[in-house]
Amino acid sequence: MAHVIALANQKGGVGKTTTSINLGAALAQAGKRVLLVDIDPQGNATSGLGVDKSTLKSDVYDVLIQEATVRDVVVATDNMDLVPATIQLSDSEVQLVNIPEREYRLKKALEAVQGEYDYILIDNPPSLGLLTINSFTAANSVLIPVQTEFYALEGLGQLINTVELVRQQFNPELEIGGILLTMYDGRTNLAKQVSQEVRSYFKDRVYQTVIPRTVRLSEAPSYGQAIIDFDPRSLGARVYTELAQEVLKQYG
Ligand code: ADP
Ligand code: MG
Repeated sequence: MAHVIALANQKGGVGKTTTSINLGAALAQAGKRVLLVDIDPQGNATSGLGVDKSTLKSDVYDVLIQEATVRDVVVATDNMDLVPATIQLSDSEVQLVNIPEREYRLKKALEAVQGEYDYILIDNPPSLGLLTINSFTAANSVLIPVQTEFYALEGLGQLINTVELVRQQFNPELEIGGILLTMYDGRTNLAKQVSQEVRSYFKDRVYQTVIPRTVRLSEAPSYGQAIIDFDPRSLGARVYTELAQEVLKQYG
C-alpha cells in the first residue's frame, strides 16, 4: 500500500512544487515506485516534469469531476508517474461543490492504484479550498514546506486547523508528517531566526534536512527535469536525497 503525502501550504512560492518533484525523484532513485498527483490548476509540477500540457487529452480534472480513472490520465515521466493538471482544473472548486461526497473524490480515485506505488505525493494549490481538502482526505500525512522568510509562520495556524478539521470529519488517520524549511539563506540572520522559531514551536516535527536557496533548483524545472538528473552533483540534489532518506526512515 502506498503512503500518501499531501504537500501543502496556502502560501504560494514556498517550495511545494519543487519539493514534490525533487522528493519524488529522490524516492524513485532509492528504488521506490512514485506517483505524483498535480492538483494545482497552474500545473507547475506537470510542466516541471517535462510534460507539455498542450498535448494532454485528459488530466486530474477528469478524475475529480468526470468519471476518468487514474490509469486513464496517468503519464510516465523520467522518474515517476504523474497525474497531470492543466488550467481546466480551475473550474473544479466550483463544480465540486455540487458533487456528492465531494471531499472523497481524490481518495476514491487513488484507492484503485494504491497497490502499484510505494509513495503517492500530492502537490497542492496555494489555497485551503476543496482541492486541498480532497488531498487531505486522501492522504496519510501532510508535509508542510515553510519558507525561511519573515512571514513564515503566518497562516500556519489556519493550515493546521484545516488538517485538524479534515481529521475530525473525513480522515481520522491524517497526521502532520513534518515541516520542511525551504529556501534557507544561511548568510542572513533572519533565516536563522525563523528556523529557530519554527523548530522551537514544532520541535521534532521539523525535518533535520533544510533546503537551501540555490539557483540550480530554480533552473531545473525549465528543463523539465528533477535536480538529481539536471545536476546530480549539486547541493540541491544532495539535500533532496537527504530528505528522501528521512522520509524513508519515517515511513519505510
Ligand atoms: P510553490 O509550489 O509553493 O508555489 P515552488 O516550488 O513553485 O513553490 O517555488 C517557487 C519558486 O521558487 C519557483 O520559481 C522555484 O523554482 C523557486 N524555488 C523553489 N525552491 C527553491 C530553492 N530552494 N532555491 C531557489 N529557488 C527555489
Ligand atoms: Mg506549486
